Amino acid sequence: MKIAGIIKSSLIDYPGKASTVIFLGGCNFRCGYCHNPEFLYMQQDKPEDGIDPRELMFFLRKRKRFLDGVCISGGEPTLSKELPQLVAEIKGLGMSVKLDTNGTNPDMLRGLIEKDLVDYVAMDIKGPVDKYQWIARNPVNLDDIRESVRILADAFRDKGFPFEFRTTVCRELLSVNDLERMIAEFPGAPAWYLQRFHNPGKILDNSGEYSAYSLVEMEDMGKRLCVSVR
Ligand code: SF4
Repeated sequence: MKIAGIIKSSLIDYPGKASTVIFLGGCNFRCGYCHNPEFLYMQQDKPEDGIDPRELMFFLRKRKRFLDGVCISGGEPTLSKELPQLVAEIKGLGMSVKLDTNGTNPDMLRGLIEKDLVDYVAMDIKGPVDKYQWIARNPVNLDDIRESVRILADAFRDKGFPFEFRTTVCRELLSVNDLERMIAEFPGAPAWYLQRFHNPGKILDNSGEYSAYSLVEMEDMGKRLCVSVR
């Protein structure tokens, strides 16, 4: 296993916590607006691809007094079979773990929650069912997505496990009506964040097809749909 990238200290990636963010390479989606295209094609088993987990653990041991937790992002982290072992080691340091996922691996998600190896999950919901594959630009097993939604909603109901759904909103991909349908189709989230699309200059599809709604439009959407905007 290799870690594709790292932000050593962040105050914005893990709600209420100072965290280190790590990015695991590889993803089974190809969203055109993806901000981390350089990670999507990385292979976990190639020694030249990224940082050795032992280096990460060395860093975390040194810095754990100043950090509350680790945010594991990607790419899609659950593609990595070694993820449970890595999070167990991080938890062994007494640190919290947040997982960012696209929800395509419900079995691993269930195992991580059942074994108390994650403390917070942010799951991407790409859009309503009939647009999911079009937005992800790769085959999507919607049963897996629905199963991940159920696992998170059940964990929240049964033991107050905290999680959020989040959706990147591009004008060309999602209308207000699409968002309304999406929220009805994937119930049970204690928090849902609509993220305004922005282009940092290196998204996966730089053809210029994507644009953002204005801030006012985003705020209006949030109010109408009773969800948060960021
Ligand atoms: S936005 Fe997320 S799910 Fe989509 S391609 Fe990028 S890493 Fe994968």
